[in-house]
Amino acid sequence: MSQDLVTFLHARLDEEADLARRCDGEGRGEWTAQGHTVDFRQGELAGFRPAIALHVALHDPARVLREVEAKRRVLARHAFSPAIGDPELPWENNDDCQYDGEPWPCDDLLDLALPYADHPDCPRAP
Ligand SMILES: [Zn+2]
Repeated sequence: MSQDLVTFLHARLDEEADLARRCDGEGRGEWTAQGHTVDFRQGELAGFRPAIALHVALHDPARVLREVEAKRRVLARHAFSPAIGDPELPWENNDDCQYDGEPWPCDDLLDLALPYADHPDCPRAP
Protein backbone atom coordinates (compact mmCIF):
# COMPACT_ATOMS: atom_id res chain seq x y z
CA MET A 1 0.00 0.00 0.00
CA SER A 2 2.72 2.50 -0.87
CA GLN A 3 0.92 4.95 -3.12
CA ASP A 4 -2.42 3.11 -3.41
CA LEU A 5 -3.98 5.06 -0.57
CA VAL A 6 -2.77 8.40 -1.95
CA THR A 7 -4.07 7.57 -5.43
CA PHE A 8 -7.38 6.47 -3.92
CA LEU A 9 -7.70 9.68 -1.88
CA HIS A 10 -6.90 11.89 -4.88
CA ALA A 11 -9.60 10.08 -6.87
CA ARG A 12 -12.20 10.66 -4.12
CA LEU A 13 -11.25 14.34 -3.80
CA ASP A 14 -11.43 14.74 -7.59
CA GLU A 15 -14.93 13.23 -7.55
CA GLU A 16 -16.08 15.49 -4.71
CA ALA A 17 -14.66 18.60 -6.35
CA ASP A 18 -16.21 17.69 -9.71
CA LEU A 19 -19.62 17.14 -8.14
CA ALA A 20 -19.38 20.38 -6.15
CA ARG A 21 -18.51 22.33 -9.31
CA ARG A 22 -21.47 20.76 -11.13
CA CYS A 23 -23.77 21.87 -8.26
CA ASP A 24 -22.37 25.37 -8.02
CA GLY A 25 -24.76 26.97 -10.49
CA GLU A 26 -22.10 29.38 -11.74
CA GLY A 27 -21.17 30.67 -8.30
CA ARG A 28 -24.56 32.08 -7.40
CA GLY A 29 -23.84 32.12 -3.68
CA GLU A 30 -23.85 29.91 -0.64
CA TRP A 31 -26.63 27.54 0.16
CA THR A 32 -28.63 28.47 3.22
CA ALA A 33 -31.31 26.85 5.32
CA GLN A 34 -34.27 28.36 7.05
CA GLY A 35 -36.59 26.09 8.92
CA HIS A 36 -37.67 23.31 6.61
CA THR A 37 -36.31 24.95 3.44
CA VAL A 38 -32.92 24.95 1.72
CA ASP A 39 -32.12 27.81 -0.63
CA PHE A 40 -29.78 26.49 -3.32
CA ARG A 41 -29.54 29.93 -5.02
CA GLN A 42 -30.96 28.24 -8.09
CA GLY A 43 -34.20 27.54 -6.34
CA GLU A 44 -35.53 26.46 -3.01
CA LEU A 45 -36.57 23.07 -1.79
CA ALA A 46 -38.84 22.67 1.21
CA GLY A 47 -39.98 19.74 3.26
CA PHE A 48 -36.80 18.92 5.14
CA ARG A 49 -36.63 18.49 8.86
CA PRO A 50 -34.78 21.64 10.05
CA ALA A 51 -31.64 19.70 11.09
CA ILE A 52 -31.49 18.03 7.69
CA ALA A 53 -31.98 21.37 5.94
CA LEU A 54 -29.02 22.75 7.89
CA HIS A 55 -26.98 19.67 7.06
CA VAL A 56 -27.72 20.00 3.33
CA ALA A 57 -26.85 23.72 3.39
CA LEU A 58 -23.61 22.88 5.17
CA HIS A 59 -22.55 21.01 2.02
CA ASP A 60 -22.59 24.16 -0.03
CA PRO A 61 -20.38 23.58 -3.11
CA ALA A 62 -18.02 26.47 -2.27
CA ARG A 63 -17.45 25.02 1.20
CA VAL A 64 -16.90 21.53 -0.23
CA LEU A 65 -14.32 22.93 -2.66
CA ARG A 66 -12.47 24.65 0.21
CA GLU A 67 -12.50 21.41 2.19
CA VAL A 68 -11.17 19.46 -0.81
CA GLU A 69 -8.33 21.96 -1.22
CA ALA A 70 -7.44 21.71 2.47
CA LYS A 71 -7.35 17.91 2.22
CA ARG A 72 -5.17 18.13 -0.89
CA ARG A 73 -2.66 20.23 1.08
CA VAL A 74 -2.64 17.65 3.89
CA LEU A 75 -2.05 14.92 1.29
CA ALA A 76 0.82 16.89 -0.25
CA ARG A 77 2.51 17.33 3.14
CA HIS A 78 2.21 13.67 4.11
CA ALA A 79 4.15 12.32 1.16
CA PHE A 80 5.58 8.82 0.96
CA SER A 81 9.25 8.52 1.85
CA PRO A 82 10.44 5.07 0.79
CA ALA A 83 13.16 3.16 2.58
CA ILE A 84 16.46 3.58 0.79
CA GLY A 85 17.87 0.24 1.82
CA ASP A 86 21.23 1.67 2.88
CA PRO A 87 22.49 -0.32 5.91
CA GLU A 88 24.99 2.47 6.69
CA LEU A 89 22.27 4.93 7.64
CA PRO A 90 22.38 5.82 11.35
CA TRP A 91 18.58 5.70 11.65
CA GLU A 92 15.97 3.06 11.06
CA ASN A 93 15.34 2.74 7.36
CA ASN A 94 11.61 2.16 6.81
CA ASP A 95 8.91 3.32 4.45
CA ASP A 96 7.49 6.32 6.22
CA CYS A 97 5.82 9.71 5.95
CA GLN A 98 8.20 12.54 5.08
CA TYR A 99 6.16 15.00 7.18
CA ASP A 100 5.89 13.22 10.51
CA GLY A 101 8.19 10.21 10.15
CA GLU A 102 5.44 7.77 11.15
CA PRO A 103 5.31 4.37 9.45
CA TRP A 104 3.57 4.52 6.08
CA PRO A 105 0.69 5.20 5.76
CA CYS A 106 0.71 7.63 8.69
CA ASP A 107 -2.28 8.21 10.96
CA ASP A 108 -3.18 11.48 9.23
CA LEU A 109 -3.58 9.71 5.87
CA LEU A 110 -5.58 6.91 7.49
CA ASP A 111 -7.82 9.58 9.05
CA LEU A 112 -8.34 11.17 5.62
CA ALA A 113 -9.35 7.76 4.27
CA LEU A 114 -11.73 6.91 7.11
CA PRO A 115 -14.83 8.56 5.53
CA TYR A 116 -14.32 6.31 2.48
CA ALA A 117 -13.81 3.04 4.36
CA ASP A 118 -16.89 1.49 2.75
CA HIS A 119 -15.85 2.47 -0.81
CA PRO A 120 -15.19 -0.68 -2.88
CA ASP A 121 -11.83 0.65 -4.10
CA CYS A 122 -10.55 1.60 -0.65
CA PRO A 123 -7.14 -0.01 -0.15
CA ARG A 124 -6.98 -2.30 2.86
CA ALA A 125 -4.08 -2.43 5.26
CA PRO A 126 -1.96 -5.55 4.74
ZN1 LIG B 1 2.15 11.82 7.75
